[in-house]
Amino acid sequence: MEATNPLLDAAAIGDLVLLDPLSEDSLLRTLRERFQRGDIYTYIGNVLISVNPYQPLPIYSPEKVQEYHNCNFFAVKPHIYAIADDAYRSLRDRDRDQCILITGESGAGKTEASKLVMSYVAAVSSKGEEVDKVKEQLLQSNPVLEAFGNAKTIRNDNSSRFGKYMDVEFDFKGEPLGGVINNYLLEKSRIVRHVRGERNFHIFYQLLAGGSVQLLRRSQPHSTGSKRGSMGGYAARVCPQDAMRVIGFSPTEVTELLEVTAVVLKLGNVELSSSYQASGMEACSITEPQGRAGDGTGGYYGRDALAKNIYSRLFDWLVTRINTSIQVKPGKQRKVMGVLDIYGFEIFQDNGFEQFIINYCNEKLQQIFILLTLKEEQEEYVREGIQWTPVEFFDNSIICNLIENSKSGILAMLDEECLRPGVVNEDTFLTKLNLLFATHKHYESKETQNARRVMDTSLPPQCFRIHHYAGKVTYNVTGFIEKNNDLLFRDLSQAMWAARHPLLRSLFPEGDPQKASLKLPPTAGSQFKASVAMLMKNLYSKNPNYIRCIKPNETKAAMLFTPELVLAQARYLGLMENVRVRRAGYAFRQLYGSFLERYKVLGSRTWPRAEALLEELAFPPEELAFGHTKIFIRSPRTLFDLERRRQER
Ligand code: ADP
Ligand code: MG
Repeated sequence: MEATNPLLDAAAIGDLVLLDPLSEDSLLRTLRERFQRGDIYTYIGNVLISVNPYQPLPIYSPEKVQEYHNCNFFAVKPHIYAIADDAYRSLRDRDRDQCILITGESGAGKTEASKLVMSYVAAVSSKGEEVDKVKEQLLQSNPVLEAFGNAKTIRNDNSSRFGKYMDVEFDFKGEPLGGVINNYLLEKSRIVRHVRGERNFHIFYQLLAGGSVQLLRRSQPHSTGSKRGSMGGYAARVCPQDAMRVIGFSPTEVTELLEVTAVVLKLGNVELSSSYQASGMEACSITEPQGRAGDGTGGYYGRDALAKNIYSRLFDWLVTRINTSIQVKPGKQRKVMGVLDIYGFEIFQDNGFEQFIINYCNEKLQQIFILLTLKEEQEEYVREGIQWTPVEFFDNSIICNLIENSKSGILAMLDEECLRPGVVNEDTFLTKLNLLFATHKHYESKETQNARRVMDTSLPPQCFRIHHYAGKVTYNVTGFIEKNNDLLFRDLSQAMWAARHPLLRSLFPEGDPQKASLKLPPTAGSQFKASVAMLMKNLYSKNPNYIRCIKPNETKAAMLFTPELVLAQARYLGLMENVRVRRAGYAFRQLYGSFLERYKVLGSRTWPRAEALLEELAFPPEELAFGHTKIFIRSPRTLFDLERRRQER
């Protein structure tokens, strides 16, 4: 079908904007053919698609860094370094704050991508004792956060169980000064349970490998001193203490941090897989998994809640502590590059409160993607002095609004239920939603289906379904209220505050009877909504660079490409929409110099101007626009025509 297109056949298309015809089929085929010959990177305009190769590739060497350093974006193969270089140069030379948004499902390569961006910027920015120290601190924040926030899961041996946004700040010369880290939604339920074949957070195993808990009491466990390379699985024995020292933690801080971690272990909630063979096995005896009431009631409820609370507060403390070390002194003039590494859209068999929150975040990211892409296009046209015609696109604000509207959104309704005195349960919550959104185009439940006389056996009664931009997701409301409330019994807070351990007590300021207040803390949902709003505001002020990561198979196998799986992700990531938005105006643009270099052979003059050259080739005028520095071509066909003529010469 696409055989007419010589570029596509050669899988040479480095930019999907040039796909002709554009279909899911052609998109998938291009990605596959490129992947199979080792080209894991492909563009959609300036959006980078990265397909996880699940094996080390020889494309991240210092020589590669040099190749992409100050490269001509169009003259080199698509690469994450090209994106990083473009962003860094634009920040340094054009004073534009940047953000790098990395999305994709678990195991798709987001975290590795964020590290590649960071290490590239560290490598090409200038050197010097002071700067090198800052760079080292910024880079070392990764192993520390990964020790406490990452775990082995079925999908990924080193899966980040939290979302992360890091602003790296630079001075006017482009030298890194420091940064700020924000964390989102640590999966704290992992503390008390996880699926078979998975593990708890790395730090617990490192703790046990480093020495018994008794030993920890007296001194720091010895560091194994080994360092982890950027790629490859996470060894459970790598201790993060070295990294903490580099960042600037005092020995007391490290000890206290590990002691509180040991407290979580001691609570006996952490289930460590019995196959784990560590030198500190004796410590495991205190952590034998204990039976717990399956329904979460009884004494275990409080204990579980306490363990989860301590750990998530400890993680927040850790992020704050790192920020104290890497923060830039106020008053310094700075340029910012933000890097966002956050979970992609999730559609599981069973979707609960967590998926709802994560997908809400992705809905917002899609919204900002559309806004920023259009804004960026518009700004480029204005910069180049070209007539701008508005573009049609699917606006997902209706879905965002359904979730976040402060008066009648789903989150607001959930908060209302959580605050209502008397017996609250998810039934009344669902009933309320059904009433409110009876006719909403993006909302569905058994009840609204019955009212609309829709026959659908796939939707159980305790569920609602949202039509997200990326597809329909059915959420089970069970657990929504408890998870949104996220309450800790007051006496537990007081007990923690009364503990003699300085760090532990500082994590529970509300346990101080002097400061006790009857006010309920904000709900999990409203906290998340607020942090997402802050994030969006931050991103909107920056020039966006997108990296869309794709996982090619379910088995972490090298070079295996499963088309159905990739197609599903291409849909969640909105790649087709991305291509459409991108070429709604002009599909292709290039600086005059590069354009002429490639196509001047087509004209009769030795030193043609682009206008004269294209006039000679007799392209329809509406196909072209001449900006101040770039030439714009509306449809891919015109470009192919040019390419074909060039090849025929
Ligand atoms: P995510 O953060 O999206 O869950 P990761 O970035 O942790 O996924 O990647 C999962 C694993 O895939 C890594 O541990 C590594 O083994 C492999 N991987 C990811 N990106 C690359 C890459 N560019 N080259 C080689 N292997 C990679
Ligand atoms: Mg990750």
